[in-house]
Amino acid sequence: MSARLDISTEAFLGNLRAVTERTAPAELMLVTKDDAYGHGLEWAVPAALSAGVEWIGSYDVASALRVRAIAPHARIFAWATSSGAEAAEAIEADLDLGVGTAEYLRLIVSEAERLKHRARVHLKIDTGLHRNGLRPEEWADAVATARRAEEAGVLRVTGVWSHLAEASDAEDDEAQRGFLAAVDELRDAGGTPRQLHLTASAASWWRPELRGTLCRIGAFCYGIRSADGSDLEGIRPVASLSADVVDVREDVVRIGIGALDGLPSILTGATIGNGARIRRVDGTWTELECWQGARRGEAVEVFGAGAVSATDLAERIDTVGEEILTRVSPLVPRRYA
Ligand SMILES: *Cc1c(COP(=O)(O)O)cnc(C)c1O
Repeated sequence: MSARLDISTEAFLGNLRAVTERTAPAELMLVTKDDAYGHGLEWAVPAALSAGVEWIGSYDVASALRVRAIAPHARIFAWATSSGAEAAEAIEADLDLGVGTAEYLRLIVSEAERLKHRARVHLKIDTGLHRNGLRPEEWADAVATARRAEEAGVLRVTGVWSHLAEASDAEDDEAQRGFLAAVDELRDAGGTPRQLHLTASAASWWRPELRGTLCRIGAFCYGIRSADGSDLEGIRPVASLSADVVDVREDVVRIGIGALDGLPSILTGATIGNGARIRRVDGTWTELECWQGARRGEAVEVFGAGAVSATDLAERIDTVGEEILTRVSPLVPRRYA
């Protein structure tokens, strides 16, 4: 394999610092779905703990349990609707479960009753995204079910959360109104949610008035900026993908990374980090326009900390930087420094 993903712990810690300072006094929940956005969960979690991060957001129960094995004392939030068996494991591992359907709430309550172990949940109100989340008309029933289970000692509603569309400020403001109304309704019923969370990277950074007590942030912690191009003070890319030159011909250079390694084949025409243009992405290699003095064996950066970021490449093909990073094959070695 002539390609590798170099990952800078120093850049990651710097980003965590920048994000934490910017969003304080809200707490940071580092989102680690998709193997920490391709950077590696087993690296990201210990590094984040060393920086004082107390909350980790894992999409599914299986990866949340991997986090628990590394982080016995962290609060770990898993929000994918899961099976009874997974919910039971989650309850025993003291995970915080995100709950977006009445059925999942009942399942968790019944597993907690069976295990005689109090489950911790964050109820999700649908504020317009219609992905997952209790609809406003279902909220009162869910609150009643949850409060009964709290009084029976099998549940603790520790949080309320939602996810923003981030399509327009006006829509996000409207979503926040729905969110706060749901929180009030829970409080009126005697609930005492401590964690209120609505925002991911962009809204946490740019819309302080929407932040709750906790910000769920993935992209910016890994130095993946959003597509709008705005500069993020103190944030830099953590991962750099590079590959070796494997062939130099008169007008074309080949590097040893291709579509099977996760480089999108539609990147034809894009400029990579060393300034060369991609002519074609094949299965296991990529053809670049030749540059002066190109040498076999030399390493070139495709994207990363240098001139071209994952988001720069993503913008060429109408996607987001996260997709460029999470596509990098797990077979491409990660080099941590
Ligand atoms: C992925 C995700 C996040 C983090 O989003 P970023 O834009 O990467 O910060 C937050 N919350 C939920 C529910 C997510 O799925």
